[in-house]
Amino acid sequence: MSFFFAPRQARTTLVCPLCSEVLDIRRTCHEAYMQCSGCRKAFPLTQFIKQMDEVMEEFLERLYSDRV
Ligand SMILES: [Zn+2]
Repeated sequence: MSFFFAPRQARTTLVCPLCSEVLDIRRTCHEAYMQCSGCRKAFPLTQFIKQMDEVMEEFLERLYSDRV
């Protein structure tokens, strides 16, 4: 059992395809997705996998290691 709680969101270096503001990676208990910090539009993660940065990578690692 871990007492470490992964953050529910993190600021990435990726930008929104609609307004060019930075995207946050966020998670619910079921899944992770990207959300724009500007227009607040949510995007599926799969759309950004190819551009994945370290923030996303780390976030997803924690997400999946959290899951028991
Ligand atoms: Zn946007």
